[in-house]
Amino acid sequence: MPAAARKPLISGNWKMNHTHLDAIAVVQKLAYTLTQADYDRADVSVHPAFTALRSVQTLLDADEIPIALGAQNVHPADKGAFTGEVSPVMLAKLNVRYVIVGHSERRQHFGETDSFINEKVKAVLHHNMAPILCVGETLDERESGMTEPKVIGQLEADYEGVTAEQAEKVTVAYEPIWAIGTGRTASAEDAEAMCKSIRAWLGAHYGPELAAKVRVQYGGSVTPANIAELIAEPDIDGALVGGASLDAERFAAIVRLGKDR
Ligand code: PEP
Repeated sequence: MPAAARKPLISGNWKMNHTHLDAIAVVQKLAYTLTQADYDRADVSVHPAFTALRSVQTLLDADEIPIALGAQNVHPADKGAFTGEVSPVMLAKLNVRYVIVGHSERRQHFGETDSFINEKVKAVLHHNMAPILCVGETLDERESGMTEPKVIGQLEADYEGVTAEQAEKVTVAYEPIWAIGTGRTASAEDAEAMCKSIRAWLGAHYGPELAAKVRVQYGGSVTPANIAELIAEPDIDGALVGGASLDAERFAAIVRLGKDR
């Protein structure tokens, strides 16, 4: 399947930014700014903080805005004594469609292991939502030639026990850690090389047909200025965007894939 058959997915990860009021304002602005032609070109998701999910869901549903609701994290259990956590049941009830799993900030600052991330991937799929699974290497790993072993090792562990039927619903986000929030983007060539390796891994495990259908995003300092070059690569099917997604106009320009309109 040629890359053109995979519709890009542009996802805005708002991290710990935007109150529910700010989040509503950004979504309203996005709704005024984006046109049907933009939505035809790319699927769009926004990932507000948990406190803003319900407000954003209500707005998206009431105004029939074709932006998918996403979460930034989830606990793998349906319910229980896990103070401060949010379950997949709770997210699914809010019509959450995509859940970011294994973001490097969760791995780094909250000690999330691949086996815990694997549990989350399976829990999200079990509740009919789609994981956006983040993988990527540190600067040290890149400089010592360990990029591919690191990322492939993450995939091996994070997909443990995931069936082919389920794997089709996963989006993989290749996010080199050194490029996140640093203003330092991987070159389109380097990003493509790793996204291609991720697809090759999917092909080896689940078959070439499935690998050709799965979306692989790039994430790491994506902006309106570099999205066109990144998306032109055959194995890059969208972007996971942090900083530049906080502002509606900048995010809309990324959704337009660098085109004027
Ligand atoms: C991210 O949060 O996943 C990310 C890539 O952030 P930024 O775009 O700010 O680098």
